[in-house]
Amino acid sequence: MINVFQPQLGKEELRAIKKVFESNWLGKGKITDQFEKEFSGYQGVNNNQIKSISCCTEGLFQSMELLEIGNGDEVILPSISFIAAGSAILKSGAKPIFCDVNKYSLNPSAEHIAAKITSRTKAVIILHYGGLPAPMDDIMELVSSKNIFLIEDSACSVASTYKNKACGTFGDIGIWSFDAMKILVTGDGGMMYFKDEETAKRAEHFLYLGLMSKSGLEKTDSVDKKWWEYDITYPGRRAIMNDITAALGLEQLNKLSMFIAKRRQVHNRYNEELKDLDYLSLPPEIPDHCKSSYYFYWIQTKEHKQRDRLAIYLKNKDIYSTFRYYPLHRVKYFGSDVVLPNTETAADTTLCIPMHQSLTNEDIDKIIDSIRSFKKTI
Ligand SMILES: *Cc1c(COP(=O)(O)O)cnc(C)c1O
Repeated sequence: MINVFQPQLGKEELRAIKKVFESNWLGKGKITDQFEKEFSGYQGVNNNQIKSISCCTEGLFQSMELLEIGNGDEVILPSISFIAAGSAILKSGAKPIFCDVNKYSLNPSAEHIAAKITSRTKAVIILHYGGLPAPMDDIMELVSSKNIFLIEDSACSVASTYKNKACGTFGDIGIWSFDAMKILVTGDGGMMYFKDEETAKRAEHFLYLGLMSKSGLEKTDSVDKKWWEYDITYPGRRAIMNDITAALGLEQLNKLSMFIAKRRQVHNRYNEELKDLDYLSLPPEIPDHCKSSYYFYWIQTKEHKQRDRLAIYLKNKDIYSTFRYYPLHRVKYFGSDVVLPNTETAADTTLCIPMHQSLTNEDIDKIIDSIRSFKKTI
């Protein structure tokens, strides 16, 4: 089976993990600090604006607490979002308000968001679908004129930029994911960006038990003679990274530009060799002022139903495909009856086909041939 997503790991990662074993310190330590430092450099922000976390889901839940979002508040997000974005809002006591997206990019426009703003709107959570940056100029203008928080779920967009600024660094909080199916993978893990340092400082407590100070061993002044005493600032959880995860992350970060180059090649081949198929539309062109992470390559069938048949046709040829993200307004638990025309169309016609840096030329040939030969069955 050709996987739809797949990581690329090598001897560099193994060697890095071995070193952590030999150091006999597996927890959060110097390697995690180093990963935070190099990641913040990569994203073009200050080291103290970035905090490592256990996963992006946790970061979404933490965002609600850090921005004090709760009962009576509304948070707008595209219905085509990761499930945890909706759950984090709901769990905070706020109400998730689903907005529509552009039919082809699956990103919301400022108008889609604006249509849902009320006096209760406290924040917006966007994502950059498949690594393609959302229209940030318009979205930034909207959220600042309305004085609402922006949270960027940047799980798809580790290497994406909009006008040379990293996706994930536009809003009040941005979150990246390194889970097993992302581009830069550590098994589980993530990073959070904070626009202001005060929030970043608070986050450090929130992410580590709410503790005010570090471990007793690090206390040096005489006032702290009884090092087992402590106080907390907040009933915090424990959502930190460890040195094994960070060691993987550092090696993966080194390889990131190579990963992106490979994904761009795959993207361009799909573009070139599928463009004449009139039963399909391809992902929108990447604007000159944007860089994509090429996380998804999505095709859209012109007719509903064909998408489902195409997915099965490919699966029978050992090519796995999927659709991300099943719209939250259709998830029964959320109990929404909102009508979102573009989301409906996108959800019924979009298919994410294999996109990862381990695809061989043979794999790509087979995928292209199969999508082409499906046409004969229509
Ligand atoms: C993968 C993903 C997440 C969740 O990340 P985890 O690190 O697995 O919690 C969140 N949002 C989007 C858009 C994702 O693709």
